[in-house]
Formats: sequence, C-alpha cells, structure tokens
Amino acid sequence: MRWHRNRITITVALAAMIGFGMILFLAYQVSASYRAAENHARGQSAALLALQEAQFKAQFREVELQLTNTNLQIAPLLTAGQSANLGSTLQQHLQLIPQADHIALIDLRGQLLAQAEGASPFELDFLPLLDQLKQQGIVYHTGGSGQPPELIIGLKPAEQSASFLALARIRPGHLEQALATSRLKSGQSLYLLDAQLRILASTPRQSNLSALEAELSGPIKQKQRRGAFLSQKSDQLISLQQIGASPLYLVSTLPTPSYLAEWQKKLAYYTTAASLMLLLTAVMAYYFWRSRRLTQNLKAKERKLSASETRFKQMIETTPVGLVLARMPDFYITYINQHAAKMFGLPQAAALSKRAFELYYDRVDFLHHSEDALAGKAVNNAECILRHKEGNPFWANVSMSASTSNDGTTLLIGLNDITQRKQLEDELKRRATTDSLSGLANRAYFMETAQQEIQRTKRYQRRACILMLDIDFFKKINDNYGHQTGDQVIRTMANLCRASLRDIDLIARIGGEEFTAFLPETTLDEAYLAAERLRIRIEENVIMLDDGREIRFTSSIGISEIMPDDPNVDAPLKRADTALYASKHSGRNKSTCFEHLPTDEQAPKDS
Ligand code: GH3
Ligand code: MG
Ligand code: MG
Repeated sequence: MRWHRNRITITVALAAMIGFGMILFLAYQVSASYRAAENHARGQSAALLALQEAQFKAQFREVELQLTNTNLQIAPLLTAGQSANLGSTLQQHLQLIPQADHIALIDLRGQLLAQAEGASPFELDFLPLLDQLKQQGIVYHTGGSGQPPELIIGLKPAEQSASFLALARIRPGHLEQALATSRLKSGQSLYLLDAQLRILASTPRQSNLSALEAELSGPIKQKQRRGAFLSQKSDQLISLQQIGASPLYLVSTLPTPSYLAEWQKKLAYYTTAASLMLLLTAVMAYYFWRSRRLTQNLKAKERKLSASETRFKQMIETTPVGLVLARMPDFYITYINQHAAKMFGLPQAAALSKRAFELYYDRVDFLHHSEDALAGKAVNNAECILRHKEGNPFWANVSMSASTSNDGTTLLIGLNDITQRKQLEDELKRRATTDSLSGLANRAYFMETAQQEIQRTKRYQRRACILMLDIDFFKKINDNYGHQTGDQVIRTMANLCRASLRDIDLIARIGGEEFTAFLPETTLDEAYLAAERLRIRIEENVIMLDDGREIRFTSSIGISEIMPDDPNVDAPLKRADTALYASKHSGRNKSTCFEHLPTDEQAPKDS
C-alpha cells in the first residue's frame, strides 16, 4: 500500500517536474526569442545606418573631389589676377555637383573672394571654419540661422602657400532625398544630425528631437562612432552611426512594438503550444493516474477473487461430498475431488483418464441420469450403484446437472456414499423381519410375505402348502435343562427346518416354540413328504450339552394346502393349526394333513 502511495507521489512529482521544466523551457525560449528579435532589430538598424553612411560618404567624397578640382583650377586664375571670371567658373563647377547648391572661395581671413553666380548667399560665419581648416584639410561645418542649418564642406588646397580655400553648401533637400531612399520599418525614423544635435535632415520629416536629445548627447560627446541602445524614456531602439570622420551622425529610432511584433507573434505561438503541451501533460497524467487506479482496483479484485477461488477450491476439495466434472460429449472426467477419488479408490490424477460412465456399476443408470441432466432435468439424490476401482459395487446418492459455457457442456456430478446407510437400512429391515433367537423370519414378516405368496399362487393357479410345527413337551425341556437350553433347542429346530426345506420355502418362528413354513409350488402330498422328512430328521437329531447330557426332541406338524377361495393367510394357517392339533392329539411326533382329517375333526378346536 505504502509502495503504491509512493509511486503515485513519484508520478505526481514527475508530472509537476515535467510541467515546471516545460515552463522553464518556455521562459527560456521566450527570452531567447526576445533577444533574437532585439538583436535582429539592432542588426537591421545598424545595416541600414551603414548603408546610409556609405551613401553619404560617397556623395561627400564626390563633393570633396570636386572641391579639389576647383582648388586646382582656381589657383592659377587667382595668381593671374583673373578674378573677373571666377563667379562663372564656380558656377560651372557647381553644376557638376548636384549635391551642392552653392560653391564659394574665401581667403584665409574669412573674407569671401568669389562665389557661384545666382546662388543664395551663405548664412554662416566662416571664422570657426578657418580654425578647423588650419588643423585638417577638409571640414564639415553646420550653422546658420535657418532651419535646417546649412551644411558646408570646406577644402584647403594641398599647397601650404595657398591663400584661399573652396566651400560647397550641401543642398538641404538633397539630404532629405538621400534619407528618403532608405527602406524603413514601420514607425522607424531616420535622422541626420550634427554634433550639436541639430537635425540636418530626417525621414519622415521631424522638426525636433525632443526626448532623444538627452539620450544622444552622451554617446556623441564621447565620440562613439556607432552604437545602439534602448531608450530609457521612450519605448524604442536608438541606433547611432557617425558618417566617416565628419561631425555628422545618422540616427535611427525604431519603436519597440514594431520590431517586437514578430516576436509577439512567436510568443503567442509558443504560449499556445506550451499551453497545449501542458494541457496534454495534465491529461496524460490524469489518464495515467486513472489507469493506475483502475489497475490497482483490478489487482485488488483479482487478489480477492483468487483468495475466494482458493477458498472455494479448498472447500470443494475437502467437502465430504464427492464431486466429479465430466466434459461432453466424450464424458471424460476433467475434475474429481479428493472425496470422490477416495470413494472409488482412485488417485485423483488417475481418475482423469476415465470416463464418467465407468464410475457406474450399470451404464444404463448413467445413460438415464445423463440424458435427464442434459435435457435440463437435474437428477437429485438418485440412489444408484456405483463401481469401486476393483469392480465392487457400492451404493451412492447421485445428483447430476449439466452446465453449458463457451468451453462446451460439462456434467456436474455430486456423489454421496450411502453404503453404510444402506447397510443400516438392511440391518433394520432384517431386524424388523427376522426373529432374533432363531434367525428365521418373524411372525409379521411371515404373515405379510405369505399373504403376497397366496395372492400370487391364486392368480397363477399354482399350488402351495403351509406347515405348522410345534415342539413336543417343550415345557419339560425348559424345566429339565433350563431356559437357555430351551433356546438352544429352538435354534436347533430352526437349523433343522432350514436344512431340510428348500431355499424358496419361507420359514418363520411365529411363537415360543412354534414354527411355520410356506412351501410354494408344492402339492399336499409333496408337503406331507417334506414334513415327514423334517419330522424324522428332528426326531433323529441329538443335542450334546456341555455337561455330556444328550437332548432329543420331537415335533408335531400340521399341513394344509392353499385353496383358491382362501381370502388371506389366516385361513390356511388355521387349517394347519387344526392339523397340528390333530397330530398332538394322536400322540405327537406326527405329521397330519388337514385335508386328510375326517370332516368332524376339521372343525376348529381349542388347543
Ligand atoms: P406340547 O407337547 O403339548 O406342545 O407341550 P409343551 O410343553 O410343548 O406345551 P406348549 O407348547 O404349550 O409349551 C410352550 C412353552 O414354551 C411355554 C414356555 O415356557 C416355553 N417357551 C415359550 N417361548 C420360549 C422361549 O423363547 N424360550 C424358551 N426356552 N422357552 C419358551
Ligand atoms: Mg407350543
Ligand atoms: Mg409345544
């Protein structure tokens, strides 16, 4: 039980761990995909800025080359003092660089020497330019009062002795156009800024940086060439790229929601998938738990069933009733319990090679029983003779029924050995019908049986006779030798009757020393002969007593024949008694036939 509980705990813990693991995995996936989305956005912004930088660099380089060219061509003109043509020359040079809308020459004090004809004048102050130009050959300068401020590229001639330098003003519209060629993401903005964070151009067009300014000033002051960071104030990714060595910067702002849209889509996908998986895990855990519980219940039931089956088997094995199962249609025994096996004197295993009808003494009995059972009429406690292993018959009560299942039909045979009961019954019957002293039939049995015999004799018109015997002077024997010797004489008399008469004759002791015999299939003459033979045998018999004395005794016999009009046994008995009386009366030790008596003697007399 404890083990089962532990297993359930382990299962639940495992399911929880799997669930927790999945949540962790999901969290990792989410954060990884977030980082990937952010990195992707950073990369894209950086690439965009790099592309844009390359474009500006190339265009500024073109301006620079043109200014170099201007410097080279202007120098001889200035030296030759041909300043009158300068304006138109510069005009021609300006037409070669579409990026610029003005081109001019200044001297080293910052005084305008010449400018392209027709262009609007510069607004900014050249002096700060000069300082820078002394340190480096090329300079980018922004300024002026306009919005956006002017961008000027200045270039000093290569010779140290040169007394002038060329300036070009980049057309503000050109910068806007250049930026506008970029392919921006939705919500993305692109700015071109100078080091003072003034907007030179932007797309879509913006007039101020507002919150961005504070965040950009740091990196620009620290002269970072490029970088990207998430804005602290606004929800956007800010990327920065310096254009070459110039004090110009490209800045991209990309609102977080726009670059996270993809990630959010993925997140929704992951969340849905994870939720489904969690749900699946939960469902699986539930079904696992349920199947475990079912299995446990089933096992418990199986255990109970097997325990009850064991008990049942034990009961069947030890029950004092014989049980035999036989399969149909060949009647082979498939099971026999101990009691039944013992009943037949067979080992249980050996009985399995036998067929059920071999257990019966008479197969016809088995046939009747099995026919009844198979017809649905169960046989109940039918008394029947069965057959022991050695072939000896014995009595049993047999119950038989048939049971049909998928495996076929089986005969269920219940057996109860009733040999003892039968013996007891026989004994009781014997006692009820036998005289205990002589072992002959008693009066009641004689009367009943003789009655039946008379009916049979009359029905089949056969002949039969009755003998009636009485020991002569028996009182004297009792008196002289004692009652026990008298009993011995009675027993001797019985033995002599048995020995002398036929087996089919029914001999009975019907009184103290009075006997009677029913002789079927016997004429009066035959009866007389039989009586005489018996009388003589009695007369000749000698009983030797233990003390050496000898006892002889005689018997008188009366004979009568069964008449067709005798209503019952009493009538011929009465006649035999009359004949017996006659024997006594005429001196004893005689046989007398009633039918031979003179008519007057045939009338009944008191003995
Ligand atoms: P009879 O020749 O006229 O028959 O003379 P009897 O002495 O035999 O006279 P009876 O037949 O009347 O005698 C019957 C006697 O048998 C009476 C009784 O004491 C004796 N008796 C009856 N039953 C038994 C018995 O079971 N055992 C013994 N020992 N004596 C019995
Ligand atoms: Mg008598
Ligand atoms: Mg007598």
